[in-house]
Amino acid sequence: MSKNCLVCGGSFQESRIKGLVQCKDCGFLTTNLELTEEEIKQLYSANYYHGEEYADYLSDKEIIQHNFRKRIKRIGKFVPDRNRLHLFEIGCAYGFFLEAAKAFFCDTEGIDISEDAVKYARETLGQNAHDGDFAAFYSGKKYDIVCMWDTIEHLEKPEVYVEKACGLLNTGGYICITTGDAGSLNARMRGRKWRQIHPPTHLHYFSRKTLSLLLQKKGFEVVDISYPANTISVNTILYTLLCIKSSHEKMYRFFKRLGITKMNININFHDFMFVIAKKK
Ligand SMILES: [Zn+2]
Repeated sequence: MSKNCLVCGGSFQESRIKGLVQCKDCGFLTTNLELTEEEIKQLYSANYYHGEEYADYLSDKEIIQHNFRKRIKRIGKFVPDRNRLHLFEIGCAYGFFLEAAKAFFCDTEGIDISEDAVKYARETLGQNAHDGDFAAFYSGKKYDIVCMWDTIEHLEKPEVYVEKACGLLNTGGYICITTGDAGSLNARMRGRKWRQIHPPTHLHYFSRKTLSLLLQKKGFEVVDISYPANTISVNTILYTLLCIKSSHEKMYRFFKRLGITKMNININFHDFMFVIAKKK
């Protein structure tokens, strides 16, 4: 517990969730872990997207892009002249968002730490994707909108990324972030069992308050916070429950044979926030 709070500089105390600490001043909830570069690379190897954390990310492409298009629609409500904007995505993975966003923005570009994912984005989907760490990225270009979908909770130093994103944006540009809301009713009720709590891939647990504070500190003004529903495949739900969180592979295969894993459902626990903020 040596580091200070990355949101407000305050000091940490034990939180009510075992293994996590909480800032005494702003309430920011975090693992406060320090990972080596090698550990991070290991975490996001190809297995991450094929069995360890996702049932099979690639087979869910259509559904993932459906969710992305809903976010693009929301951005359109707050960001004028979307089709003239240069977009950059931090954590672009396999390039599903970049591909879906191409029709709505002037141009799209992204970066991800996972080499396999970026290779797919570039070679199979033809997207402008870089592999590497955004903290070390330099293109010499300026952008109008930076997106970080379900990424900020994975970053060891999210404050560095938000600051760098601000530097890459033109004045009046936007940052769009999705992450779980640790202050939501569901998160507070579930405690350690909240589905978003899984260190070491999720290192930080922001709330409306702490994410807004960080954005303000780094030169942004929050313009919208919403709680979108996400469409998810029954396959992903059953695989997570029966194969990742427990060992009931037989039961999973049974449901798969029945065909119900082909269905999709809409879920909204109002604990997943979508924040749009404008560079001041
Ligand atoms: Zn704090």
